[in-house]
Amino acid sequence: MATSAKYIFVTGGVTSSLGKGIVSASLAKLLQARGYQVTIQKFDPYLNIDPGTMNPYEHGEVFVTDDGAETDLDLGHYERFLNIRTSRANNVTTGRIYNNVITRERNGEYKGKTVQIIPHITDEIKENVKKLGESGDYHIVITEIGGTVGDIESLPYIEAIRQMRYEMGASNVIVIHLTLIPYLATSGELKTKPTQHSVKTLLESGVQPDILVCRTEHSLTKDIKAKIALFCNLAPDAVMESIDAESIYDVPLLLRKENLDTVVLGKLSLPAAGEPNLKSWKNFLTKLKNPQDKVTIALCGKYVELKDAYKSISEALVHAGAHQELKVNIRWIHSEDINETNVERMLADVHGLLVAPGFGNRGIEGKIISIKYAREQKIPFFGICLGMQCAVIEFARNVLGLTKAHSIEFDAETPDPVINLMENQKQVTQLGGTMRLGAYPCTVRKDTLAYEAYKKVNIRERHRHRYEFNNAYMKRYEEAGFIASGVNEENNLVEIVEYKPHPFFIGAQFHPELKSTVEKPHPLFMAFVQASYQKKQDQRRNNNE
Ligand code: GLN
Repeated sequence: MATSAKYIFVTGGVTSSLGKGIVSASLAKLLQARGYQVTIQKFDPYLNIDPGTMNPYEHGEVFVTDDGAETDLDLGHYERFLNIRTSRANNVTTGRIYNNVITRERNGEYKGKTVQIIPHITDEIKENVKKLGESGDYHIVITEIGGTVGDIESLPYIEAIRQMRYEMGASNVIVIHLTLIPYLATSGELKTKPTQHSVKTLLESGVQPDILVCRTEHSLTKDIKAKIALFCNLAPDAVMESIDAESIYDVPLLLRKENLDTVVLGKLSLPAAGEPNLKSWKNFLTKLKNPQDKVTIALCGKYVELKDAYKSISEALVHAGAHQELKVNIRWIHSEDINETNVERMLADVHGLLVAPGFGNRGIEGKIISIKYAREQKIPFFGICLGMQCAVIEFARNVLGLTKAHSIEFDAETPDPVINLMENQKQVTQLGGTMRLGAYPCTVRKDTLAYEAYKKVNIRERHRHRYEFNNAYMKRYEEAGFIASGVNEENNLVEIVEYKPHPFFIGAQFHPELKSTVEKPHPLFMAFVQASYQKKQDQRRNNNE
C-alpha cells in the first residue's frame, strides 16, 4: 500500500444541497472500481461538536459509525456506495476543530503563543485530513467541505486547502468544485454566471479549482462547457455535467460518461488504464430499474415530513427491494396522525409496517396503536430501536395486561417500566456522545426469524439509545410467545425481540439500516421485504378466492 496518499477536496458553490455527498461517493466508487483504496471524509462547518445533539429537522438523520461516532448522513452514502466502514475520523466539525485547539491551549501546549485561526485552526484542519492519508490504508482521500464557498464559516477550510496544495503540489492535492447551472425556463437558457462568480470567490482565497462538476437539469452543450472553461481557467475536459438522475445510484455511471475518474487520475498522476469494474453495481441497477412486482411498506415515524430523517432506512428498503426485484413503495405515516379510529384505514392495505427510531414522547401512542394493528392483523412488522421499544410496551399493555406499562423515558412513574434506563446511564448528565453508541456484539438464538435472516449466531450491530428492555419482565414475555431472539451476553441486554405466533414480528434495539449497502443489503431488511411480499401474495390469493 502506498504510504503517501493523494488528496481530493470537494467544495460547493452557488447553493447548498447540490448533492456533494453523492458526487463524492460516486467519484470514490469509480476510483474504487479501478482498484484504488479510497476513503471519504466530511468537514461540517458548524460549531456543534457533532450532529448528535441536533434535532432531525435541523440536520436529518444522525449516522452512527462502528466506533460510536454520531456523524453526518453523508457518511451513510459513503458506506452504502463503497461498502466500506467509516469512523470518527471521517466526519469533523468546526466545533471539534476549535475544541481540540482550545483544549490544547488550556493545557499550555502553545507555550505562550497567541492562538489564531491561521495557523492554528488551519493546522488542525490539515492534520485531520492527513490523519486519514497517513494511515497507510488509502491511495486516495476525498474530503468534502460542507457548506458553500463564500460562507464565513468555510474560509478556514479553503485556506487549509490552499496551504496543502502549496505544500504538497498540484499532482498530490486537487480541488473539485461542484456548482449549479440554473435553467431559466422563460428564456430557455442555462446560465453560467453564478458558477463564474463562485469560482472567482474561490480564487479570491487563492484556490483555483481543477475540475468543475456542474449540476444541471439539462445537458450542457459543448459551447457552454467551453464558455465555463474559458471564464474559470480550466481545460474544457475538466468541466463536467452532473445531470439530475432518476436514482442516486445512477450518478457513478453518469460521471463515468463525463470521464470524471480518468480526468481526476490524470491530474493526480495516477494510472487510469481500461475501464472500472462496475459489474455488480450495474447488476444492482438493472434489478432496481426492472422490478418484477411492488410491495407497499408503511413507515411510521414522527419526522416523516423530512425524508432525510430516515435516509438509511429508506435506502435499506431500496437495497433489499432491488435485490429481490421488488419496488418498495414507502407509505409515510406520521405517528401523530394515527389513532384507534383511523388505523385500519391507514394500514389495511399495506404489506408491512416499519416503526422508526426516535426520541421523546411525541407520537408514541400512534406508534403503539399501529403496532397493535400489525400484530393483530398479522401484518409483517419491523421495529427499529424506539420502534422495538414501542412493540415491547404494546405487548405489555394489550397482551400481558399491564395497562400502564411504559418506557421510563416517557413516564418516569409507570408501575411497569418494561423499558428501563441502563444502570450506567443513570448518572449521565451531559448530552453529546453519552448514549450507548457504536457496534456491539449480539448472539442470535437458533430457530428464530433473526437466525433465519442472518444465518449466523454472532453478529455485530450499531446502537444509539439510552433505554433497554427490562429483564425483570422477560419471563412473562417469553411465556406469552414474545421472545428475545438476540442478546448481548456480556451485559445481558435484549437486542432482538420476536413474537412467535406472528408470521413476521421482529424488533431490533440496534439500527440495522446503518449497515445496509448496495452490495450487501441487510439481512433483516431482506427478510422483512420478503415477508411483506409474502403478505401481498396471500392477500391476492384471498381476494381471488
Ligand atoms: N429514545 C430511545 C432510547 O434512547 C430510542 C432511541 C432510538 O430510537 N434511537 O433508548
